[in-house]
Amino acid sequence: MAKIQKLGSVKRFGPRYGRSVKYKLAKIEAIQKGKHQCPYCHSLKAKRLSAGIWSCGKCGAKFTGKAYSIQKAAVEEASEKEKEETKEKEE
Ligand SMILES: [Zn+2]
Repeated sequence: MAKIQKLGSVKRFGPRYGRSVKYKLAKIEAIQKGKHQCPYCHSLKAKRLSAGIWSCGKCGAKFTGKAYSIQKAAVEEASEKEKEETKEKEE
């Protein structure tokens, strides 16, 4: 049986706007509204204030990240650095 995707927060749109668009948005909103790890105190209390601005409920730190997540930024930066390093080696 195929894995059942859940619409979650996107249920608010009811029957409008089409299936595939809503499923795409559901994936992003689940990350955006979910729990995130604070880079300062490492607790899962970081919350999104607005696009790219995050605050921690435990230590009160306010910091920047990606628009919809914090941790993906670190992953992407690491992969970009690796790419740059390999390019430099090739040259
Ligand atoms: Zn914190």
